[in-house]
Amino acid sequence: MTAPAREATGARSTSAAAPAGEFSARCADVLGSMGRHATGRQVWAGLGSAGVLGETYRAQSPAAGVDRARLGALLAAVDAHVGIGSTLAVCVQIASSLPLLAAASAPGPARDMAAGAVAGEAVVAFGATDEATGSDLAALSTTLRLDAEEIEVTGTKRWITNATQCDAALVLARHRPGRHFTSFTWVLVPVTAAGVTVEAADTELFDGSGTGHIRLDRVRLPRSQVVGRPGMALASFAEHIAVERLAGALWGVALCRRVLADTKRRLAARPYGDGSLWHLEGVRQRFADTLVLVRQLRALTAELGDRVAVHHDTTAAALLKSSAAATVERVLAECAQLQGAEGFAAGGIQHLRAQAALFGIGGGTRELMLSVVGDAADTVLAELAD
Ligand SMILES: Cc1cc2nc3c(=O)[nH]c(=O)nc-3n(C[C@H](O)[C@H](O)[C@H](O)COP(=O)(O)OP(=O)(O)OC[C@H]3O[C@@H](n4cnc5c(N)ncnc54)[C@H](O)[C@@H]3O)c2cc1C
Repeated sequence: MTAPAREATGARSTSAAAPAGEFSARCADVLGSMGRHATGRQVWAGLGSAGVLGETYRAQSPAAGVDRARLGALLAAVDAHVGIGSTLAVCVQIASSLPLLAAASAPGPARDMAAGAVAGEAVVAFGATDEATGSDLAALSTTLRLDAEEIEVTGTKRWITNATQCDAALVLARHRPGRHFTSFTWVLVPVTAAGVTVEAADTELFDGSGTGHIRLDRVRLPRSQVVGRPGMALASFAEHIAVERLAGALWGVALCRRVLADTKRRLAARPYGDGSLWHLEGVRQRFADTLVLVRQLRALTAELGDRVAVHHDTTAAALLKSSAAATVERVLAECAQLQGAEGFAAGGIQHLRAQAALFGIGGGTRELMLSVVGDAADTVLAELAD
């Protein structure tokens, strides 16, 4: 599918952005008309055609970056209505693929694809993780030959969200050997190009996400498929993955809130002695402990969110992501324990725990985030004294 050529301003309507409450209500309206099992592509199409994808960005333009409050509202609405896999499919695109494409300075395939994506008509995967490596990006082995008129890409991208349901993938490739950060370039690879094969990842945990592996076997494309300036890809990766890390933290708050509310309902409905499990002091204290954690995470998103959304602050993004990973893991573990045997039912919280382990891996492992925070220890300490 080729994205229509039109301005990537984002919104279907050009009127001023609606207030946040109204925005949430519109998201819920669109999502309410879909089944719980809607795929990421279906969700994306519905949100795009209703104009809400564009409205998630400042000035309703993906090139201007996300509006933190709206990004949080969008992800909370998606999380409430569809499964983890489909929410993941939206999260990666809204935070990373679409802004990266829209930031392309010259008119051409990237900007056209961004326009199609924001309208919900096109889906674009974000292919950084390589067969050779995930965490050590500078060691990636996907190669790019850059000629004056034509380029050639070869390599394999693994565990890529939207791979099986996208029109094109943004592929991070190296145009010269070595680890120097200027050795990397983004390429927009249509999945219909000769030499592209896509295989679904062998897991049921992320149904709806289209997660899969993309093999590129000497894929030849016009030079116009290069996105941004050659050599600038790692810098733009850092910028855009920071926003995905913020998105993960906002999603984490919404997910924990939803699971905690469900757990509290179950505890109140489960008889114990003269009352219910909820009436046991020990149970309420454990529950309260997790509420404290989620409030802390939410406070962190409020404090640091705009530093990521507006300034692409990578330390702030790492603080958010490491906190989100730990919070989601701890909250879901406590809630799973409190739900007892019922948690093991099909689609129950024990399944959700396995899915949500993604918060500590996808988009950069928790260890990698802690390394970023550790490298910035003096700055973080100085800010604590402010
Ligand atoms: C469902 C799903 C969707 C995904 N979607 C995308 C996508 O859309 N685009 C994309 O590009 N990638 C995607 N990924 C890949 C994801 O970003 C990588 O899994 C992640 O970056 C980690 O890389 P890896 O899996 O190769 O782990 P590895 O790099 O092999 O690391 C394995 C483990 O080693 C440890 N480790 C690694 N490095 C360090 C370190 N420096 N210090 C201490 N410990 C370390 C950690 O415990 C880590 O979990 C997705 C993954 C999943 C599971």
